[in-house]
Amino acid sequence: MIQVVHTIKEVREQVKAWRAQGLTVGFVPTMGYLHEGHQSLIARSVAENDRTVVSVFVNPMQFAPTEDLESYPRDLEADTSLCDATGADLIFNPEPEEMYTEGFCSFVDMNGPTAELCGKSRPIHFRGVCTVVSKLFHIVTPDKAYFGQKDAQQLAVIRRMVTDLNIPVEIVGCPIIREKDGLAKSSRNTYLNEEERKAALILSKTIYMGQELVKGGMTDAKELIRAMKENIGTEPLARIDYVEAVNFDDISVTDTITDNTLVAMAVYIGKTRLIDNFIVQGKRDAKGVSSC
Ligand code: AMP
Repeated sequence: MIQVVHTIKEVREQVKAWRAQGLTVGFVPTMGYLHEGHQSLIARSVAENDRTVVSVFVNPMQFAPTEDLESYPRDLEADTSLCDATGADLIFNPEPEEMYTEGFCSFVDMNGPTAELCGKSRPIHFRGVCTVVSKLFHIVTPDKAYFGQKDAQQLAVIRRMVTDLNIPVEIVGCPIIREKDGLAKSSRNTYLNEEERKAALILSKTIYMGQELVKGGMTDAKELIRAMKENIGTEPLARIDYVEAVNFDDISVTDTITDNTLVAMAVYIGKTRLIDNFIVQGKRDAKGVSSC
């Protein structure tokens, strides 16, 4: 039976007891309202580790004041059932005060990979992500941690952070899980009304279109992006935040589509900002994003 704890002390004690038995620990950090995308990460962790910890924490530090911190969907009961059914052992669900005690003033900041894509439109986002994920790594001390390609820039940022800060954890990237009609699963999809839900298909349709153009031999990034933007423009409810081609390793802008190019987009459907992407895999597998 899965255990749900709310304090850092409880997590540390449980992990210490597992370690004393020589067990390995996998970790899946989430903001909750779990769906099959999260579940694929949890299932992979369960398969590859003796014990699995899932954190459910809507991290205030990664939301700007204008963003959806208050309205972000929450359902710990449903999350607990999903984690339990998938074989996880422990949920860590702290209050913000547990993570950020009075006087908190230390942050993990990053240049380089945070400069483009979501870093441009959400300038404080990755500082919040890096700070909370490094805190969670110190609390859970996992052998492996699982992140989705759905947030490809975040995956690249976390890889860079654990390298730069010598955090002893293996980062495992997992593929994007989609609805049957193609829409990438996201907790934020619940914001969409019926009309917007239909309109949101423009993201995955444009991703598929981009993949086809690349398969067909297109290598000019500007040309590809122009075609993708034009396609998104056919959907009246869509407003483009960005469509960009970058190197998946360091998130630097590229003019040429090659192996390991990340083609990423953020698009508003009404008031809801959705993201999607693909990584050009060519002859070799994209780093770490093997099938879950
Ligand atoms: P979130 O709860 O949105 O912070 O996501 C927690 C983790 O689940 C992140 O590593 C996400 O990339 C991953 N994730 C979210 N949606 C999906 C999806 N549709 N497919 C695969 N991974 C996902």
